[in-house]
Amino acid sequence: MSKRIYPEPSMKENEEMGPLLKLETLTPIWTGGVREKSKEQLRLRETGIIGSLRWWYEVLIRGLGRSACDPTANTRCEGKNHCDACELFGCTGWARKFKLNIEFNDHTIPGVWIGTRKKHEVKKDKLKYLIYLRRNVLGFMSPVILSFIPLREISKNEWILLNATFEIIGDYGAIGAHTSQGNGVIKIIENNLPHKDDKIDNLEFKKDSARVEFPSLDNFFFYKFHLKFKEDIPALIDKEAFWTHQQGHKKFSDNWGNWEKLWNDYNFLPIAFHIRDTIRHFEDDRNKRHSIFGKLGEGSKVFVSHGYKIDKETVETRIWGYDEEGIKEKIKENLNGSLREKLFSDNDNLESCNLIDEKLGKKILEGVIKK
Ligand SMILES: [Zn+2]
Repeated sequence: MSKRIYPEPSMKENEEMGPLLKLETLTPIWTGGVREKSKEQLRLRETGIIGSLRWWYEVLIRGLGRSACDPTANTRCEGKNHCDACELFGCTGWARKFKLNIEFNDHTIPGVWIGTRKKHEVKKDKLKYLIYLRRNVLGFMSPVILSFIPLREISKNEWILLNATFEIIGDYGAIGAHTSQGNGVIKIIENNLPHKDDKIDNLEFKKDSARVEFPSLDNFFFYKFHLKFKEDIPALIDKEAFWTHQQGHKKFSDNWGNWEKLWNDYNFLPIAFHIRDTIRHFEDDRNKRHSIFGKLGEGSKVFVSHGYKIDKETVETRIWGYDEEGIKEKIKENLNGSLREKLFSDNDNLESCNLIDEKLGKKILEGVIKK
């Protein structure tokens, strides 16, 4: 492992401690809603972590046939009449069963911007303009300690499902916000949660067929690709080989010094937007494309990570999502051929792009239930 420039977090004195998880960030975590704030205001929000954890928990339990409302949409859950996700995470009139303490150094990464490939319409003073936009690579990187303090009894099944949720996030997905644009890939270093080696043997079903439009793990796919470059990554950054903006994008200024810092100090390459821009075009139908990829990353059903370091010439990237439109096959077939055009501003510097791991949500679900 190469050196890290940030200090280890430690539990504050008098801080309550419960069963804990230690994580390492492989790509920056983002939990804020606003993109451009002064550095002083940036901090990791507990609500952002809990919200994301709940989202994955919902996906998992829907896959198991249990009910989970979407608290961001219209939910009918209130008080004692609630779904299986609200049972653990709470809703109006029903408190969350645990408190989450997060120890984290709010260590903000140096900023890097990637321009959009097309002009977008923006409105200003009642006038419409077509301009290139800039997308920011941002977030925090540091070891993280999550401590769960039970406030009421958490059942054995709930612990098993929480463990499974973290396994999915750690092995295949990501946590926090902007996970469709590179953020939030973590690695679990230590897990002290109860029942981590247990499986579910008695599942009570509260099936609610009216809620099938919400994402369910049985529709998910998870890929990991290895991108191997023809040269050392620092040499390519030094040559300014990666694409950052269109020629006509006025006032865009590169910051190759920060690219270098992200690689040397944080071990990742900020290429999620390049990958996203590549796979967007695998869907020709405009309406389908918007339904799958959302608008500027909002509401996307496909998620993409930045490239985190495997060795000095190779990065790993995660691509996952849920759909019925066949995008998963297109990604598998076309990424290798198409990524080269989007990654670089000039020469093709990619040696290979290999799918090294492929997992279906259905398979993960089988592993959660006792046979
Ligand atoms: Zn609910």
